[in-house]
Amino acid sequence: MKSKWIIAFVVVLILVVMAGNAFAFLDFSKLSKRGDPVIAVLRLNVFHRPDCPLLKDVPKALTIKLRDKDEALKFDYKACDKCKP
Ligand SMILES: [Zn+2]
Repeated sequence: MKSKWIIAFVVVLILVVMAGNAFAFLDFSKLSKRGDPVIAVLRLNVFHRPDCPLLKDVPKALTIKLRDKDEALKFDYKACDKCKP
């Protein structure tokens, strides 16, 4: 009789964890809708994906991280031709 309750408790626990994962997935899809963060290069007025090879030659002091592509365009940055952010 007691073990039945333990099984019920475990099942509820699994459901709660699964529901949590579902919410995490929803949050993630919201984030990707907003776009990935981009790295803008000051003075050159160009922005790149964080993994763009051209960023390796740019001093970190000259770069700023922006929330997404839309924000970079708002500040009049232009998209890099190589990484096409
Ligand atoms: Zn680039």
